[in-house]
Amino acid sequence: MKEIKTAEILCVGTELLLGDIVNTNAAFLSQRLAELGIAVYHQSVVGDNPERLLAELEAASKRCDLVITSGGLGPTYDDLTKETISAFFGKKLVRDDATLERIRSYFAQTGRVMTPNNEKQADIPEGAIAIDNAYGTAPGVIVEGDTLTAIMLPGPPRELIPLFNEKVLPYLEARTGSVIVSKNVQIFGLGESFVENMLLDLMKNASNPSAATYADSGELRIRVTARADSKDKAEEMCDELIEKIKTTDVAPHIYGIDSGSVEATLVSTLKEKQMTIATAESCTGGLIAKLITDVSGSSAVFLGGAVTYANSAKEALVGVRHETLEAHGAVSEQVAIQMARGVREALESDIGISTTGIAGPTGGTSEKPVGTVYVGISSEKGDRAILLRLSPQRERSYIRLLAAKNALFTALCEAGFSTSLS
Ligand code: ATP
Repeated sequence: MKEIKTAEILCVGTELLLGDIVNTNAAFLSQRLAELGIAVYHQSVVGDNPERLLAELEAASKRCDLVITSGGLGPTYDDLTKETISAFFGKKLVRDDATLERIRSYFAQTGRVMTPNNEKQADIPEGAIAIDNAYGTAPGVIVEGDTLTAIMLPGPPRELIPLFNEKVLPYLEARTGSVIVSKNVQIFGLGESFVENMLLDLMKNASNPSAATYADSGELRIRVTARADSKDKAEEMCDELIEKIKTTDVAPHIYGIDSGSVEATLVSTLKEKQMTIATAESCTGGLIAKLITDVSGSSAVFLGGAVTYANSAKEALVGVRHETLEAHGAVSEQVAIQMARGVREALESDIGISTTGIAGPTGGTSEKPVGTVYVGISSEKGDRAILLRLSPQRERSYIRLLAAKNALFTALCEAGFSTSLS
């Protein structure tokens, strides 16, 4: 088996050259190849043009062991990657029966009509390996030449990414003599630059295992990746770095390892602890309930909720006292607490969670500016509220999302983190 040390990425598509789409596939492939220890010295993009694709292939073949292409595997006339690469290797295209059968059943399952040009997608260069694509019609293809290996992958990232992770990664691991393991440390409530700064020494000096941060509305994950001779060894290396991360100031913000979003982690934790939750929402208008019910299996833990936007609804549905509203206003610690307790009592849940705040852009005052949100929490441990001061410069939708995510994180802290974290 030929060892692979150097690779190039060659993305095909006029849309990329016109700037209509961003080349996220190149970024993804480069990251994964770096983790495998395969050096990438060139990336290139060509339009749907066979001559220029061929010229790039010829140049790459003189420089590296592996070329990975993305795009141009579709059924239309301008999808010419397979034809061009076959010609480059001097092979003719032959129909792969197993692939044809898979494409047929894919069309049958999705209730679509298969046209003759879809059959063309089952053609692969003679002697090549077809990579089954469970996410679309075009198979990936591996062509092993004397000095160069070419791997063709479909353009849509929702196909390319799983195909690479599930099929190409093991193929390449076998040719680099190593196994890759990645684990995600899930963090809530810290900014990316803050985390990077705090973990600078760990991240800067770590190449194997390596650590990289990925941020998303309030949530952030540190992906720890290790390369070793065996899976057990790579896992052990990841765990060692994770233990080091747990000794830093980031630790109180870690809510899971490979546990997904805050809401997914909340649902699994509540399930594990056989606890239930109910929501009373004002400024988030049902978003917390939506996020929880986005998680499959949430019916085991989520009893329901009320969107109590008007003061009258806060009184009628979750028993907020009229005097409390008069004395403190709807956006107050006292009201948040009564909402959380009220919904918990009404639905007899273990945890009640609430939000009341000012999402803006109007409605702020000097005392309670836009971004002021109280999250109320009620459980057998007691009732309390947390004051969030979210940035008033941010748009309404972002303030609402951050308020909802903070409420979910507060509920997760109340439930006690999963035992898998300890
Ligand atoms: P299909 O079977 O869907 O036609 P294909 O392999 O022919 O797949 P293309 O037609 O080249 O792929 O691209 C399909 C879509 O995939 C593009 O419209 C774009 O949304 C996405 N895509 C293609 N290349 C890239 C890329 N390099 N980075 C990110 N997205 C891409």
